[in-house]
Amino acid sequence: MNPTAKIIKNPDAAACGHSVKEFLCRLGGPTWIDIDGMDPSRTRVMVTLLHGNEPSGVKALFNWLINETRKKPLTNISFFVCSVEAALTEPDFSHRYLKDEPDMNRCFRPPFKGQNGILAERILDRIKLLEPEAMIDIHNTSGSGPDFTIAPNHDDQYAALAANFSRRFIMTELKLGSLMEVDIGCPIITLECGGSFDMTADHTAMQAIEYLATRDDLYDQANRQGVNVYTHPLRFEIKDDVSITYGDDKKSDFDVTLASDIEKHNFGVTPANDFLGWVGSRGLDYFTAIDDCGNDVVADLFEVRDGKLYTKDTLRLFMVTPRPEIASKDCLFYLVNPD
Ligand SMILES: [Zn+2]
Repeated sequence: MNPTAKIIKNPDAAACGHSVKEFLCRLGGPTWIDIDGMDPSRTRVMVTLLHGNEPSGVKALFNWLINETRKKPLTNISFFVCSVEAALTEPDFSHRYLKDEPDMNRCFRPPFKGQNGILAERILDRIKLLEPEAMIDIHNTSGSGPDFTIAPNHDDQYAALAANFSRRFIMTELKLGSLMEVDIGCPIITLECGGSFDMTADHTAMQAIEYLATRDDLYDQANRQGVNVYTHPLRFEIKDDVSITYGDDKKSDFDVTLASDIEKHNFGVTPANDFLGWVGSRGLDYFTAIDDCGNDVVADLFEVRDGKLYTKDTLRLFMVTPRPEIASKDCLFYLVNPD
């Protein structure tokens, strides 16, 4: 990815093109879009398209920019549209990042090497210059499911900021090199709008921009009422040498076959003894689930009987992916013990 981002100020609707694709073609690469607000002493930042296959944020931004009736936002807003080249690599919106590049949302920590690392450092440098009062990073989940926010902290500020955007809030201490982990002087939350092709996800992203532009106090504690908070999620992963697929029955060429309807678990409560898929002769040894203290607790949460994988405890699963490449490179899903 080209590590030099351009900066556009207050583009008019005509400059944005007639479609999201045309908009991205005009941007051509990572781009800051700065919009003046009524109170120029305050700035908010929204980042989106860190992952090229997660379009809801940039679709919402395009629709907001071309709306000729929209009012000037209360504060300045700087939007950053990141992985434009990956998004435009055909088929559109199918590439999380460019081939041979690392995941952009794992690059926000030293050593800031390679094109994505250099870009990540430059993004952080500009955010520090902007001194935002609040920041949101908009994503889609790879599987279908409801919206939720994620933050590395659960203090009053983070919780109130997150409450503007979703009724579900996940606090995680997992350190992966993602943007929200960086200390830039104000809370950063990640908004997962739902699946890339969920209409509701596009709507959630549009609402998020609307709130960013119109709510005077993003830290109003009254918003927190009714938000469900989930803490200390674990990542359920397969080990490096393990092959995985999805299906309605066991595929013997693979070590692990997850049930093809695995996405149905997204954010529901999954009881103990629920069937998740089939495994080969190594049983649970294909998987890890590392807790905050670095212990692998996979055997407390799952069990294998007759070559089948079951939950051992009541769990709430989220970010369940139906895509083997994401399951291999990232994780199968996250989980928490329910409320
Ligand atoms: Zn993402």
